[in-house]
Amino acid sequence: MAKAAAASKAAAPAALPAPTIDWEQVRALSNATAVSGDEGAVRRLVLGWLRAPGAAARDVTVDALGSVLAVLPATGRRPAARVLIAAHMDEVGLMIVDHDSDGSLRFETVGGLSERVLLGKPVLVGPQRLPGIIGAAPRHLLGADRLTQVVKANAMRIDLGATNAEAARRLAPVGERAAFATEFAMLAGAVRGKALDDRLGCAILLALLRGGPYPVELRAAFTVQEEVGLRGARVASYRVAPDAAFALDSTPAADLPDSRGRENTHYNTRLGAGPALYVADGRTISDRRLVTHLTRTAQAAGLPYQIRQPGGGSTDAAAMQQAAAGVPVLAVSVPGRYAHSPAMLARTADVEHTLRLMHAALAGWTPKVLKP
Ligand SMILES: [Zn+2]
Repeated sequence: MAKAAAASKAAAPAALPAPTIDWEQVRALSNATAVSGDEGAVRRLVLGWLRAPGAAARDVTVDALGSVLAVLPATGRRPAARVLIAAHMDEVGLMIVDHDSDGSLRFETVGGLSERVLLGKPVLVGPQRLPGIIGAAPRHLLGADRLTQVVKANAMRIDLGATNAEAARRLAPVGERAAFATEFAMLAGAVRGKALDDRLGCAILLALLRGGPYPVELRAAFTVQEEVGLRGARVASYRVAPDAAFALDSTPAADLPDSRGRENTHYNTRLGAGPALYVADGRTISDRRLVTHLTRTAQAAGLPYQIRQPGGGSTDAAAMQQAAAGVPVLAVSVPGRYAHSPAMLARTADVEHTLRLMHAALAGWTPKVLKP
Protein backbone atom coordinates (compact mmCIF):
# COMPACT_ATOMS: atom_id res chain seq x y z
CA MET A 1 0.00 0.00 0.00
CA ALA A 2 2.65 2.50 1.11
CA LYS A 3 4.85 1.42 -1.77
CA ALA A 4 2.09 2.04 -4.29
CA ALA A 5 1.38 5.46 -2.83
CA ALA A 6 5.05 6.43 -3.10
CA ALA A 7 5.16 5.21 -6.70
CA SER A 8 2.10 7.20 -7.70
CA LYS A 9 3.53 10.30 -6.01
CA ALA A 10 6.65 10.09 -8.10
CA ALA A 11 4.80 9.51 -11.36
CA ALA A 12 3.73 12.34 -13.68
CA PRO A 13 0.22 13.63 -12.98
CA ALA A 14 -2.28 11.22 -14.46
CA ALA A 15 -4.61 12.42 -17.20
CA LEU A 16 -7.94 13.60 -15.84
CA PRO A 17 -10.14 10.49 -15.75
CA ALA A 18 -13.08 10.84 -18.12
CA PRO A 19 -16.49 10.98 -16.44
CA THR A 20 -19.29 8.71 -17.61
CA ILE A 21 -22.89 9.34 -18.56
CA ASP A 22 -25.45 8.90 -15.80
CA TRP A 23 -28.19 7.05 -17.70
CA GLU A 24 -30.71 7.43 -14.89
CA GLN A 25 -30.17 11.16 -15.28
CA VAL A 26 -30.88 10.80 -19.02
CA ARG A 27 -34.05 8.85 -18.21
CA ALA A 28 -35.34 11.60 -15.90
CA LEU A 29 -34.37 14.31 -18.40
CA SER A 30 -36.01 12.55 -21.35
CA ASN A 31 -39.27 11.81 -19.54
CA ALA A 32 -39.62 15.38 -18.24
CA THR A 33 -41.66 17.72 -20.42
CA ALA A 34 -40.14 21.03 -21.57
CA VAL A 35 -41.72 22.27 -24.79
CA SER A 36 -40.06 25.55 -25.84
CA GLY A 37 -40.91 28.44 -23.51
CA ASP A 38 -42.09 26.09 -20.77
CA GLU A 39 -38.82 24.50 -19.64
CA GLY A 40 -39.51 24.54 -15.90
CA ALA A 41 -39.57 20.77 -15.36
CA VAL A 42 -36.13 20.24 -16.90
CA ARG A 43 -34.76 23.40 -15.30
CA ARG A 44 -35.77 22.08 -11.85
CA LEU A 45 -33.96 18.79 -12.52
CA VAL A 46 -30.79 20.55 -13.72
CA LEU A 47 -30.79 23.00 -10.79
CA GLY A 48 -31.27 20.14 -8.35
CA TRP A 49 -28.19 18.34 -9.64
CA LEU A 50 -26.04 21.46 -9.96
CA ARG A 51 -26.88 22.59 -6.42
CA ALA A 52 -26.62 19.16 -4.76
CA PRO A 53 -24.12 18.85 -1.89
CA GLY A 54 -20.67 18.18 -3.29
CA ALA A 55 -21.49 19.40 -6.81
CA ALA A 56 -18.55 21.15 -8.47
CA ALA A 57 -20.40 23.97 -10.27
CA ARG A 58 -20.29 27.48 -8.84
CA ASP A 59 -22.48 30.57 -9.33
CA VAL A 60 -25.48 28.54 -10.49
CA THR A 61 -28.07 31.04 -11.73
CA VAL A 62 -31.18 31.29 -13.90
CA ASP A 63 -31.06 34.13 -16.42
CA ALA A 64 -33.91 36.42 -17.48
CA LEU A 65 -35.20 34.00 -20.15
CA GLY A 66 -34.90 30.89 -17.97
CA SER A 67 -31.61 29.35 -19.06
CA VAL A 68 -29.47 27.80 -16.31
CA LEU A 69 -25.90 29.11 -16.12
CA ALA A 70 -23.05 27.64 -14.08
CA VAL A 71 -19.30 28.12 -13.70
CA LEU A 72 -16.53 25.58 -13.19
CA PRO A 73 -13.40 27.59 -12.27
CA ALA A 74 -10.16 26.76 -14.07
CA THR A 75 -7.22 24.95 -12.55
CA GLY A 76 -4.18 27.07 -11.79
CA ARG A 77 -3.90 30.74 -11.04
CA ARG A 78 -3.15 32.24 -14.43
CA PRO A 79 -6.01 33.81 -16.41
CA ALA A 80 -7.58 31.01 -18.40
CA ALA A 81 -9.67 30.96 -21.55
CA ARG A 82 -13.39 31.10 -20.89
CA VAL A 83 -15.15 28.32 -22.76
CA LEU A 84 -18.95 28.26 -22.97
CA ILE A 85 -20.74 24.98 -23.65
CA ALA A 86 -24.47 25.10 -24.39
CA ALA A 87 -27.07 22.34 -24.47
CA HIS A 88 -30.74 23.17 -24.93
CA MET A 89 -33.35 22.10 -22.41
CA ASP A 90 -36.40 22.61 -24.64
CA GLU A 91 -38.06 20.12 -26.98
CA VAL A 92 -40.46 20.37 -29.91
CA GLY A 93 -44.14 19.83 -29.05
CA LEU A 94 -47.59 21.33 -29.24
CA MET A 95 -49.43 24.36 -27.84
CA ILE A 96 -53.15 24.47 -27.10
CA VAL A 97 -54.77 27.34 -29.02
CA ASP A 98 -58.56 26.77 -28.77
CA HIS A 99 -61.32 24.49 -27.50
CA ASP A 100 -64.11 22.96 -29.55
CA SER A 101 -67.68 22.56 -28.33
CA ASP A 102 -67.20 18.76 -28.22
CA GLY A 103 -64.41 19.17 -25.64
CA SER A 104 -61.48 18.56 -27.97
CA LEU A 105 -58.41 20.82 -28.07
CA ARG A 106 -57.06 22.65 -31.09
CA PHE A 107 -53.30 22.99 -31.18
CA GLU A 108 -50.35 24.37 -33.10
CA THR A 109 -46.91 22.85 -33.37
CA VAL A 110 -43.98 24.39 -31.44
CA GLY A 111 -40.65 24.03 -33.23
CA GLY A 112 -39.97 21.96 -36.34
CA LEU A 113 -42.52 19.18 -36.06
CA SER A 114 -43.99 17.50 -39.14
CA GLU A 115 -47.70 16.68 -39.05
CA ARG A 116 -46.81 13.28 -40.51
CA VAL A 117 -45.68 12.12 -37.05
CA LEU A 118 -48.65 13.39 -35.03
CA LEU A 119 -51.69 11.31 -35.87
CA GLY A 120 -52.83 8.85 -33.23
CA LYS A 121 -49.97 9.60 -30.79
CA PRO A 122 -50.50 9.67 -27.01
CA VAL A 123 -49.52 12.99 -25.44
CA LEU A 124 -49.19 14.53 -21.98
CA VAL A 125 -50.85 17.93 -21.58
CA GLY A 126 -49.89 20.72 -19.18
CA PRO A 127 -47.95 20.65 -15.93
CA GLN A 128 -50.26 17.96 -14.55
CA ARG A 129 -49.23 15.74 -17.47
CA LEU A 130 -52.85 14.91 -18.34
CA PRO A 131 -52.94 11.92 -20.68
CA GLY A 132 -54.48 12.64 -24.06
CA ILE A 133 -54.44 11.42 -27.64
CA ILE A 134 -54.00 13.26 -30.92
CA GLY A 135 -57.30 12.12 -32.37
CA ALA A 136 -57.81 10.52 -35.71
CA ALA A 137 -60.80 8.93 -37.35
CA PRO A 138 -60.21 5.15 -37.55
CA ARG A 139 -59.90 3.60 -40.97
CA HIS A 140 -63.41 2.16 -40.60
CA LEU A 141 -64.86 5.64 -40.98
CA LEU A 142 -62.74 6.74 -43.95
CA GLY A 143 -63.40 6.38 -47.63
CA ALA A 144 -60.69 4.95 -49.88
CA ASP A 145 -59.54 8.41 -50.99
CA ARG A 146 -58.86 9.65 -47.43
CA LEU A 147 -57.04 6.55 -46.24
CA THR A 148 -53.78 7.60 -47.86
CA GLN A 149 -53.94 11.35 -47.18
CA VAL A 150 -51.68 13.23 -44.77
CA VAL A 151 -53.92 14.96 -42.24
CA LYS A 152 -53.08 18.62 -41.65
CA ALA A 153 -52.28 19.65 -38.07
CA ASN A 154 -55.17 22.13 -38.04
CA ALA A 155 -57.55 19.26 -38.83
CA MET A 156 -56.37 17.22 -35.80
CA ARG A 157 -57.49 17.60 -32.21
CA ILE A 158 -56.15 16.51 -28.82
CA ASP A 159 -58.74 14.51 -26.90
CA LEU A 160 -58.52 14.57 -23.07
CA GLY A 161 -61.91 12.95 -22.69
CA ALA A 162 -63.65 16.26 -21.89
CA THR A 163 -67.24 16.52 -23.11
CA ASN A 164 -67.56 20.28 -23.69
CA ALA A 165 -65.44 23.37 -24.32
CA GLU A 166 -65.67 24.68 -20.75
CA ALA A 167 -64.42 21.41 -19.26
CA ALA A 168 -61.61 21.27 -21.82
CA ARG A 169 -60.63 24.87 -21.05
CA ARG A 170 -60.40 24.11 -17.34
CA LEU A 171 -58.15 21.13 -18.00
CA ALA A 172 -55.91 22.83 -20.56
CA PRO A 173 -56.18 26.59 -21.04
CA VAL A 174 -54.91 28.34 -24.15
CA GLY A 175 -51.10 28.38 -24.15
CA GLU A 176 -50.71 25.06 -22.32
CA ARG A 177 -48.12 22.76 -23.88
CA ALA A 178 -48.40 19.11 -24.87
CA ALA A 179 -45.54 16.68 -25.42
CA PHE A 180 -45.27 13.10 -26.66
CA ALA A 181 -45.93 10.55 -23.92
CA THR A 182 -43.02 8.27 -24.87
CA GLU A 183 -41.24 6.59 -21.93
CA PHE A 184 -37.45 6.50 -22.04
CA ALA A 185 -36.00 3.01 -22.60
CA MET A 186 -32.54 1.44 -22.64
CA LEU A 187 -32.28 -0.85 -25.68
CA ALA A 188 -29.43 -3.09 -26.83
CA GLY A 189 -26.56 -0.59 -26.94
CA ALA A 190 -28.98 2.23 -27.65
CA VAL A 191 -31.52 4.48 -25.98
CA ARG A 192 -34.98 5.56 -27.06
CA GLY A 193 -36.73 8.67 -25.77
CA LYS A 194 -39.00 11.51 -26.74
CA ALA A 195 -36.62 14.37 -26.05
CA LEU A 196 -33.12 12.99 -26.51
CA ASP A 197 -32.75 16.13 -28.65
CA ASP A 198 -31.29 17.67 -26.62
CA ARG A 199 -31.42 16.01 -23.21
CA LEU A 200 -28.42 13.91 -24.31
CA GLY A 201 -26.53 17.20 -24.67
CA CYS A 202 -27.72 18.26 -21.20
CA ALA A 203 -26.50 14.96 -19.70
CA ILE A 204 -23.11 15.29 -21.43
CA LEU A 205 -22.75 18.85 -20.12
CA LEU A 206 -23.62 17.71 -16.58
CA ALA A 207 -20.97 14.98 -16.87
CA LEU A 208 -18.38 17.51 -18.10
CA LEU A 209 -19.05 19.60 -14.99
CA ARG A 210 -18.52 16.49 -12.84
CA GLY A 211 -15.33 15.60 -14.72
CA GLY A 212 -13.35 18.83 -14.23
CA PRO A 213 -11.72 21.10 -13.37
CA TYR A 214 -9.92 21.96 -16.60
CA PRO A 215 -7.25 24.46 -17.65
CA VAL A 216 -10.14 26.60 -18.93
CA GLU A 217 -12.93 28.34 -17.08
CA LEU A 218 -15.88 26.19 -18.11
CA ARG A 219 -19.16 28.05 -18.42
CA ALA A 220 -22.22 25.85 -18.82
CA ALA A 221 -25.50 27.08 -20.31
CA PHE A 222 -28.59 24.88 -20.27
CA THR A 223 -30.57 26.98 -22.73
CA VAL A 224 -34.24 27.67 -23.44
CA GLN A 225 -36.13 28.14 -26.71
CA GLU A 226 -33.54 26.65 -29.05
CA GLU A 227 -36.19 24.92 -31.14
CA VAL A 228 -37.99 28.19 -31.88
CA GLY A 229 -34.98 30.29 -32.89
CA LEU A 230 -31.92 29.78 -30.64
CA ARG A 231 -33.21 32.48 -28.30
CA GLY A 232 -31.81 31.41 -24.93
CA ALA A 233 -28.29 30.82 -26.26
CA ARG A 234 -28.16 34.30 -27.78
CA VAL A 235 -28.59 36.13 -24.47
CA ALA A 236 -26.60 33.58 -22.46
CA SER A 237 -23.60 34.01 -24.75
CA TYR A 238 -23.91 37.78 -24.55
CA ARG A 239 -23.78 37.61 -20.77
CA VAL A 240 -20.90 35.13 -20.53
CA ALA A 241 -18.80 36.76 -23.28
CA PRO A 242 -16.71 33.60 -23.80
CA ASP A 243 -13.44 33.20 -25.72
CA ALA A 244 -14.90 30.15 -27.50
CA ALA A 245 -18.19 28.28 -27.43
CA PHE A 246 -19.49 24.83 -28.25
CA ALA A 247 -23.07 23.71 -28.83
CA LEU A 248 -23.73 20.14 -27.74
CA ASP A 249 -26.73 18.83 -29.65
CA SER A 250 -28.03 15.95 -31.72
CA THR A 251 -28.16 15.69 -35.50
CA PRO A 252 -30.46 13.58 -37.69
CA ALA A 253 -28.64 10.40 -38.71
CA ALA A 254 -29.24 9.54 -42.36
CA ASP A 255 -28.58 5.79 -42.03
CA LEU A 256 -32.23 4.84 -41.74
CA PRO A 257 -33.19 1.18 -42.01
CA ASP A 258 -35.47 2.29 -44.84
CA SER A 259 -33.01 3.80 -47.32
CA ARG A 260 -35.85 5.48 -49.20
CA GLY A 261 -36.06 7.81 -46.21
CA ARG A 262 -32.90 9.52 -47.34
CA GLU A 263 -33.87 11.94 -50.07
CA ASN A 264 -32.21 14.88 -48.34
CA THR A 265 -28.52 14.45 -49.08
CA HIS A 266 -27.54 17.25 -46.70
CA TYR A 267 -27.44 14.70 -43.93
CA ASN A 268 -24.66 12.13 -43.86
CA THR A 269 -24.10 11.11 -40.24
CA ARG A 270 -24.68 7.59 -39.00
CA LEU A 271 -25.05 5.83 -35.70
CA GLY A 272 -21.95 4.27 -34.17
CA ALA A 273 -19.46 6.54 -35.96
CA GLY A 274 -18.99 8.88 -32.99
CA PRO A 275 -19.69 12.56 -32.41
CA ALA A 276 -20.50 14.65 -35.48
CA LEU A 277 -18.35 17.77 -35.85
CA TYR A 278 -19.83 20.58 -37.95
CA VAL A 279 -17.71 22.41 -40.49
CA ALA A 280 -20.77 24.43 -41.53
CA ASP A 281 -24.55 24.24 -41.35
CA GLY A 282 -27.42 26.39 -42.53
CA ARG A 283 -26.45 29.37 -40.36
CA THR A 284 -22.89 28.90 -39.15
CA ILE A 285 -19.40 28.33 -40.46
CA SER A 286 -17.47 26.69 -37.66
CA ASP A 287 -14.19 28.11 -36.40
CA ARG A 288 -11.40 26.16 -38.09
CA ARG A 289 -9.18 26.30 -35.00
CA LEU A 290 -11.82 24.58 -32.92
CA VAL A 291 -12.43 21.93 -35.60
CA THR A 292 -8.67 21.30 -35.71
CA HIS A 293 -8.41 21.08 -31.92
CA LEU A 294 -11.21 18.52 -31.76
CA THR A 295 -10.04 16.36 -34.64
CA ARG A 296 -6.46 16.32 -33.28
CA THR A 297 -7.75 15.53 -29.81
CA ALA A 298 -9.84 12.66 -31.16
CA GLN A 299 -6.95 11.25 -33.16
CA ALA A 300 -4.55 11.46 -30.20
CA ALA A 301 -7.05 9.78 -27.88
CA GLY A 302 -8.15 7.16 -30.40
CA LEU A 303 -11.75 8.35 -30.29
CA PRO A 304 -14.11 8.05 -33.28
CA TYR A 305 -15.63 11.15 -34.86
CA GLN A 306 -17.41 12.04 -38.07
CA ILE A 307 -17.60 15.26 -40.04
CA ARG A 308 -21.18 16.34 -40.58
CA GLN A 309 -21.68 17.35 -44.17
CA PRO A 310 -22.22 21.10 -44.61
CA GLY A 311 -25.82 21.91 -45.38
CA GLY A 312 -29.02 22.62 -43.53
CA GLY A 313 -30.00 22.90 -39.91
CA SER A 314 -28.58 25.03 -37.15
CA THR A 315 -27.75 24.86 -33.47
CA ASP A 316 -27.20 27.21 -30.56
CA ALA A 317 -23.73 27.76 -32.09
CA ALA A 318 -25.28 30.15 -34.64
CA ALA A 319 -26.65 32.42 -31.92
CA MET A 320 -23.52 32.24 -29.76
CA GLN A 321 -21.26 33.08 -32.70
CA GLN A 322 -22.90 36.44 -33.22
CA ALA A 323 -23.30 37.48 -29.59
CA ALA A 324 -21.61 40.69 -28.42
CA ALA A 325 -18.35 41.18 -30.30
CA GLY A 326 -18.42 37.66 -31.77
CA VAL A 327 -17.37 34.22 -30.54
CA PRO A 328 -15.51 31.36 -32.27
CA VAL A 329 -17.93 28.42 -32.23
CA LEU A 330 -18.28 24.75 -33.07
CA ALA A 331 -21.28 22.45 -32.81
CA VAL A 332 -20.74 18.83 -31.76
CA SER A 333 -23.70 16.51 -32.09
CA VAL A 334 -24.71 12.99 -31.18
CA PRO A 335 -26.19 11.31 -34.27
CA GLY A 336 -29.75 10.16 -33.70
CA ARG A 337 -32.46 8.51 -35.78
CA TYR A 338 -36.04 9.82 -36.02
CA ALA A 339 -35.33 13.27 -34.60
CA HIS A 340 -38.35 15.48 -33.92
CA SER A 341 -40.73 12.55 -33.69
CA PRO A 342 -42.30 10.73 -30.71
CA ALA A 343 -39.07 8.77 -30.19
CA MET A 344 -35.45 9.34 -31.14
CA LEU A 345 -32.94 6.51 -31.05
CA ALA A 346 -29.24 7.03 -30.31
CA ARG A 347 -26.31 4.68 -29.60
CA THR A 348 -24.97 4.80 -26.06
CA ALA A 349 -21.40 4.54 -27.42
CA ASP A 350 -21.89 7.72 -29.48
CA VAL A 351 -23.04 9.57 -26.38
CA GLU A 352 -20.10 8.32 -24.30
CA HIS A 353 -17.65 9.12 -27.12
CA THR A 354 -19.03 12.65 -27.42
CA LEU A 355 -18.49 13.11 -23.69
CA ARG A 356 -14.96 11.70 -23.83
CA LEU A 357 -14.00 13.87 -26.81
CA MET A 358 -15.27 17.07 -25.18
CA HIS A 359 -13.62 16.10 -21.91
CA ALA A 360 -10.28 15.48 -23.61
CA ALA A 361 -10.61 18.72 -25.61
CA LEU A 362 -11.12 20.74 -22.42
CA ALA A 363 -8.43 18.88 -20.48
CA GLY A 364 -5.94 19.39 -23.32
CA TRP A 365 -6.73 23.07 -23.93
CA THR A 366 -3.73 25.37 -24.29
CA PRO A 367 -3.44 29.03 -25.36
CA LYS A 368 -2.33 27.68 -28.76
CA VAL A 369 -5.85 26.46 -29.58
CA LEU A 370 -7.10 29.96 -30.35
CA LYS A 371 -3.87 31.31 -31.91
CA PRO A 372 -4.82 32.95 -35.22
ZN1 LIG B 1 -31.50 20.07 -30.71
